[in-house]
Amino acid sequence: MNLAVVLVSPKTPGNIGSAARAMLNMGAADLRLVAPRCDYLDPQSVAMAVHAADLLRSARVYPTLREALADRDLSVGTSARVRADLPPGRHPATLRPLVRAAAAPALVFGPEETGLINSDLEQCQVTVRIPTGDYASLNLAQAVLLVCYEFLQGGEDISASERKTATREEMEAVYGHLRETMELIGYTDAVRARHTLRLWRALLDRALMSSAESRLYRGFLRQVHWKVQDAARRGRDALQAGQAEPPSDG
Ligand code: SAH
Repeated sequence: MNLAVVLVSPKTPGNIGSAARAMLNMGAADLRLVAPRCDYLDPQSVAMAVHAADLLRSARVYPTLREALADRDLSVGTSARVRADLPPGRHPATLRPLVRAAAAPALVFGPEETGLINSDLEQCQVTVRIPTGDYASLNLAQAVLLVCYEFLQGGEDISASERKTATREEMEAVYGHLRETMELIGYTDAVRARHTLRLWRALLDRALMSSAESRLYRGFLRQVHWKVQDAARRGRDALQAGQAEPPSDG
């Protein structure tokens, strides 16, 4: 994803280097610095970046946040504080679909001591707040790590979106089939069926089967039906054959 991390007026070289490392860890590459208050290629910064030194060296510097955001189609602010005059920050996971749908999103982080000011947050369409204990102010690079994690690596919905979860209709068909099978093989009877099936529903619903998996499962049940019925048929045939034949020794 073409996601940019924008650090507004960072002060500590170590934080910039650590933020670069966090970005590389999470799969982001575009680091933007707005009016930094230190040399972002300071040895301390490079040391903290470790393998992200190239990412750090390719950072771009902008005089204003407005210029840093000019080519972005979504800007997400971050704030530890709840501000009375602005909408409350959202949980990062709730914004994941919005960020993933954007072509060129930016995540905006504030200066270490003060955070983003209102005029910065006004340039962001949404704000995220990482939930915390009583002490809400995270280290800048750690905030970068957590927010990038949520948007780039977090959640199961990367695979879930490629994977078609079975519809309730498909699952009801599974449960209907399962119930018939249970009765067929005497696993449960009409009295206990409802309770038994509730336990199996809980178990199988937790698996969040895909459509294909629900078909796989029904294929298995179909074979159980076939086998049981086939065995019954053979038994009947054998019985009939036995009755038709005259007793051998009488
Ligand atoms: N006192 C400042 C904290 C600054 S920490 C404030 O109230 O915002 C530096 C930056 O790290 C913040 O500007 C923000 O970008 C990010 N940050 C720190 N804690 C955060 C949190 N709980 N949720 C979201 N971002 C946070």
